[in-house]
Amino acid sequence: MLDGGASAASGLEKSLLDWYRRYQRPLPWRGEHDPYRILLAEVLLQQTRVAQAIPYYHRFLERFPTLEALGRAPLEEVLRVWQGCGYYTRARNLHRLARQTSALPPTYAGLRELPGLGPYTAAAVASIAFGEAVAAVDGNVRRVLSRLHAWEDPSPKRLQQSAQGLLEGALGYGSPGEWNQALMELGATVCTPRRPACSRCPLERFCRGKGQPERYPLPKSRRPKPIELTALILGGPMGVYLEPRSGGVLGGLWGVPMEEGPGGLERLLKRFGLEEARFVGRLRHDFTHRRLQVWVYQAPWARVEDPRRRPLSRLDQKILSLLDTA
Ligand code: SF4
Repeated sequence: MLDGGASAASGLEKSLLDWYRRYQRPLPWRGEHDPYRILLAEVLLQQTRVAQAIPYYHRFLERFPTLEALGRAPLEEVLRVWQGCGYYTRARNLHRLARQTSALPPTYAGLRELPGLGPYTAAAVASIAFGEAVAAVDGNVRRVLSRLHAWEDPSPKRLQQSAQGLLEGALGYGSPGEWNQALMELGATVCTPRRPACSRCPLERFCRGKGQPERYPLPKSRRPKPIELTALILGGPMGVYLEPRSGGVLGGLWGVPMEEGPGGLERLLKRFGLEEARFVGRLRHDFTHRRLQVWVYQAPWARVEDPRRRPLSRLDQKILSLLDTA
């Protein structure tokens, strides 16, 4: 569900499912419930275009109609059938899996334990074959959701939560497998990486990114670099130790002592001759090209001043505000 209104959300889910029922491409694995066949289709589509994957799908199933048949075949033969499809690790993993079991477990958790099955593939098989209400987030879904919410660089957790919320909202109207496939189909055929067809998109009226869809999500090269920092507040609510900041971004401002990278706390404690500091919280702060994660600690200190008397960055204000809640 998009944050912004329950009535809009139910319309969103219905709009997409109606569109999918009408416009989905007729692919050989549509309507399929056999977990092995669904797994094969998903594995093929991971790195192969649909048009190229279809003949391999048929060829593979003709020679290995069941997981058991696949498990009995020598690897060399499996690779021969896969020949020309590329990314042979996929064929090796499928074969390894077939050697291990002749029946796929009927849950997401069980599927995740099998060799070579990542969260996306396990969720796709669990939802499509077994009807488990678990959202499958692949590249297509990531793109659609990023645009829908106008998110430049959503974390995998945020995407998964959003996808899960939508899936649960759709349950009265469609099955988990149908919903997951509908979202992927939209990404593959309408909300494409370049020049998405917003004017014929069933989600247009719900979409926050439609004005400039190609802005979302940011390409990998332009995503902010994550940086880990440790900040040490010396003092307390009555006053803290501050030092001048240097560098292009924060130079001229004042702030609490900070260190970048692993071992930051140890270096800060050593610098101030302290034995320990107490953890007060963690915060995130985004600069244009950097995403900061700051772990904030506090220790008593004698030489303190009123922070309101110094120019502080937004980041330092956020750090000090943790004292109010700690
Ligand atoms: S309106 Fe455009 S950007 Fe938004 S989901 Fe549809 S195709 Fe994608």
